[in-house]
Amino acid sequence: MKILKRIMSYMLLSCQKATQLIEKRKIHNLSWQEKILLDSHLGMCKACKGYEKQSETIDQLFEHHHQSTDDSAELSDKEKDELIKFLQNNN
Ligand SMILES: [Zn+2]
Repeated sequence: MKILKRIMSYMLLSCQKATQLIEKRKIHNLSWQEKILLDSHLGMCKACKGYEKQSETIDQLFEHHHQSTDDSAELSDKEKDELIKFLQNNN
């Protein structure tokens, strides 16, 4: 069983690598190998699944903010509240 665990750990992504792929996926298309690795990691790892969700929500907030304001980099108080609430609920 120890050997199996070792093989698995080589095949599977580390959480660090998985979060890197989550970020990369927003900008570039992942290769099919990367997609499979990331999907299988997200299927098993609650921490990274949570990271993915948070990261998407934060992006949506910023995107929404971008569309609704001209060129200010500040979040509105409402957006800040939403962000804080979301982060609190997911931790
Ligand atoms: Zn993970």
